[in-house]
Amino acid sequence: MVKTVKFGGSSLASAEQFQKVKAIIERDSARRYVVVSAPGKRFPGDDKITDLLYRCQALAASGRSFDAEYAKIAERFCGIRDGLGLSYDIESELDAIRLRIEAGASPDEAASRGEYLNGKLLSAYLCIPFLDAAEFVRFRDDGTFDDNATMQRSETVKAYERAVIPGFYGQKRNGSVRTFSRGGSDITGAIVARGTQSDVYENWTDVSGFLMTDPRIVPEAKTIETVTYSELRELSYMGASVLHEDSIFPVRRARIPIHVRNTNDPDAPGTMIVPDSMATDKEQMRPLTGIAGRRGYTVITLTKDNLHNELGFSYRLMGILARNGISAERMPSGIDTISLVIDDKRLSGKMDQLYHDIMIECAPDTVEIASCIALIASVGIGMVRNPAVAARLFTALNDADVNARLIDQDSNEMNIIIGVEQRDFERAIRAVYHAFA
Ligand code: ASP
Repeated sequence: MVKTVKFGGSSLASAEQFQKVKAIIERDSARRYVVVSAPGKRFPGDDKITDLLYRCQALAASGRSFDAEYAKIAERFCGIRDGLGLSYDIESELDAIRLRIEAGASPDEAASRGEYLNGKLLSAYLCIPFLDAAEFVRFRDDGTFDDNATMQRSETVKAYERAVIPGFYGQKRNGSVRTFSRGGSDITGAIVARGTQSDVYENWTDVSGFLMTDPRIVPEAKTIETVTYSELRELSYMGASVLHEDSIFPVRRARIPIHVRNTNDPDAPGTMIVPDSMATDKEQMRPLTGIAGRRGYTVITLTKDNLHNELGFSYRLMGILARNGISAERMPSGIDTISLVIDDKRLSGKMDQLYHDIMIECAPDTVEIASCIALIASVGIGMVRNPAVAARLFTALNDADVNARLIDQDSNEMNIIIGVEQRDFERAIRAVYHAFA
């Protein structure tokens, strides 16, 4: 059994957190590859090292002193080192990084040093070799992630029996440092898990897994024990977030489960994300895995007699959307109607032209525009096997006095989407949650 474990910024924010991480790693000898974030916040309002590094770089680039900010960075790293009683010479590393920033290091290079230094410290503390991510995570010179080149370098990682690897960054072909987007250590973890053919990718953070829904709306929301990759994709698209979205694809393709766990509560079961084919009977039968939702949609409903027989109606409608640079989130349709569900951000400033084009080119009988709509996705692979799910869901909404303005079901039948007025959003989520949880 081989495990890749990734620890997020809050898991490694202080010497005390390092001690928890050490205990977790020592508890299971399969935890051989350890990917780290930079130290994050220790308390609300605290600085993240990555943010401080970006600030230092920006100050240096505009010719200003970054001494004060850099002193905070040095203090954090020295504090961790001293708190752990290590004799590691972090000062020399800090001096070299300071010189690089003074000499015009890019924002990516500066920011990447948080993970680099944290990796160095953890490697010294655990007595596990340090492997620089720049040696195998590759980016093209245009800055995009080069998955093939990275995969080809998997042997570099596998050559290590155990390693501590900094997350978040890699190297371009021209040798310069490039980072993923913020939160990108999750991606490095997934790449390492795939490259080392790990049996599981453990992602250690400060929450005990994914909750069935937003706890700000349902404070008693239960943790999801197991979620499939497809379900998670639906939920995170609709606003649920714990992992960096791009961190899913390397492990998903390699059919490696992700186990989201809590460094501050290592005995909690956490959430297991599994390939769809690994879902057990229990998950297959479960009517609802999670509920997510987003506000800020407009629904444009066109009606026209005999619309379904009119050749090219949808084609023209799609052409209008494309020409106006708008993509519709969903397009539920009926015999005489088509609705466009559009994210307000995509529609902004384009409504008049869109309306005009639709009237001229599609000549609908009526157009109804509903703004301030929220979409709620009720997701579960078991839905298809539970014919009563829809009935339960709509009864719950009805009982809560929520009017569903729109109903749509994914063709993969693991997702029922309802559109409600924004003012009903939270009430609707609570109603659906309590109908199933
Ligand atoms: N330290 C980086 C950030 O704050 C990357 C990460 O934590 O995953 O975004």
